[in-house]
Amino acid sequence: MSDVGVRGSGSLTIGVLGGGQLGRMLALAGTPLGFRFRFLDPDAGCPASAVGEVIAGAYDDPQALDRFAKGVDLVTFEFENVPAETVRRLSSRVAIAPGAESLATGQDRAHEKRFFAQCGLPVAPWAEVHDAASLMAAVDSVGVPAVLKARRLGYDGKGQCVIKRREDAPSAFDALGRVPCTLEAFVPFSRELSVIAVRGRDGSFLHWPISENVHRHGILHTTLAPAEVEPAMERAIAEYARTVMHSLDHVGVLAIEFFDDHGRLLVNEMAPRVHNSGHWTIDGAVTSQFENHLRAIAGLPLGSTAPRGVSAMLNLIGSTPPLEALASESDLKIHLYAKAPRAGRKVGHLTTVAPSREVARERLRRLEGRFAPESIAAAASSA
Ligand code: AMP
Repeated sequence: MSDVGVRGSGSLTIGVLGGGQLGRMLALAGTPLGFRFRFLDPDAGCPASAVGEVIAGAYDDPQALDRFAKGVDLVTFEFENVPAETVRRLSSRVAIAPGAESLATGQDRAHEKRFFAQCGLPVAPWAEVHDAASLMAAVDSVGVPAVLKARRLGYDGKGQCVIKRREDAPSAFDALGRVPCTLEAFVPFSRELSVIAVRGRDGSFLHWPISENVHRHGILHTTLAPAEVEPAMERAIAEYARTVMHSLDHVGVLAIEFFDDHGRLLVNEMAPRVHNSGHWTIDGAVTSQFENHLRAIAGLPLGSTAPRGVSAMLNLIGSTPPLEALASESDLKIHLYAKAPRAGRKVGHLTTVAPSREVARERLRRLEGRFAPESIAAAASSA
C-alpha cells in the first residue's frame, strides 16, 4: 500500500468493484479531486456508467479482471460480496483498500459476530445454524422470537426470516434454502442507529455524527442526523468503530449499525464500505463519506466530518417520482441513480438540511407524504 497515493498533482485512476449507486456517488465525489474512475460490473448500463468507464463482466471472470486492473492505480469496492478469489487475484497486481480482512469479515454474519465479540462489542444472543439439528439447538438456546439470517449474500432484508414460534423454524430454514445461517434473538429496539467512520492509511480516525435510521421491510427508509444521542452513548459508539477499524487495519469508510434497546446498545452488523445511512453526508456534512473514503484510500488527509445542520434523508424505493415534482421542492437535494423501477429497489434518495431537528422531522414527514406515501400506510397498518 505504501507505494500508492497522490504525489504532486498526479491524478489517480481508481478501480471500483461494483458499479451501483455507491460507485456512482464515489465518482461524483472524486471527480472534483481530479480522480478518474473505472468500474467492474456485470451490467454495462449500471448506475456508474454515467460517471466512468465500465468493464462489463462477472467478478470472477479472469479476462474481465485483467482488463479492469490494467492501468488502475488503486482498487476499492462498493459492495462486500466480491469473491475472495477476485481480491486475491487483483491484489497481486494492484493495491486494494479496504483490505481482504475487512471484506472477509463483512461477508459472513457468523464471522462478523465472532469478530465483534473479540473486539468487546455487545451483540444479541445468537447461534450458528447449518442443519436441522443445529437449527433446533439454536432455537432452544436463543429463544423466540428470533431472526434467521443467511450467513452470506443477504442485503436489504433479503435472506432473513422472523421466527415467532419454535415450530416455525424448519419452514423458515427451508424458505432460506437451508443455507448456513445465524439465528439471532429478536431485539425489541426503541430505535436503530448507525455510525459512519473513516480511517486513513496513517491510522487517523474520524466519524460523522450518529445517524438515526428507520427501516421498512428490512430496507432503509429514512435517516436523521445528527441523531439525539447521549454523549456517553456517542462516545461508546465511536470507540466501537475505532476498535473495529483498528483491529481490521481498515483503510476507508466503514459503517456499523446498532439497535438502541431502550438505552442498551447492541451491534447489528457492519459494512466495510460507504453506506446508505451516510448518504446525508453528501449535502449535510463538510466532507461526504464518499470523498473521505477516496481521501483515505489515496493516502490524503481526511476532510472535516462536521455537520452543516440537521439532515433528513428519504430513500426512493421501487420507482422514481417525476423530476418536476421533486424539483418543485426548493430545499431538496435530489439524487437519482438512473435505475429501472422494480419493487424493493433503491432508485434514489432525497436529502434536506434543516436548521433544527424539529424542522428536519417536519420536512421529512412532508416528503414521505408526497414521495413515499405507501410507507406511511405500511407504518399505520403495522402500528
Ligand atoms: P440486517 O440486514 O441484519 O441489517 O437487517 C435489516 C433490518 O431488519 C434491521 O435494520 C432491523 O430493522 C431488522 N432486524 C434485523 N435483525 C433484527 C433483530 N435481531 N431484531 C430485530 N430486528 C432486526
